[in-house]
Amino acid sequence: MPLYEYQCNNCKERFTVLQPVGEGSENVTCPYCDSKDVKKIFSPFASLFGSSGGSNWGGGCTSFG
Ligand SMILES: [Zn+2]
Repeated sequence: MPLYEYQCNNCKERFTVLQPVGEGSENVTCPYCDSKDVKKIFSPFASLFGSSGGSNWGGGCTSFG
């Protein structure tokens, strides 16, 4: 099952969701604020999941907004 990356339009947080192929975003809810106003984004990071090494996912380097 592929990983998709989403961004919440409400709180601007990004998160990944494990979804079956062809599944829409209508079933996706933001884990941070429970908003369903999310959009799918495509990131190369999604395919890097599972590699060993650092754990800077969700680190404090975000400068959104
Ligand atoms: Zn949110």
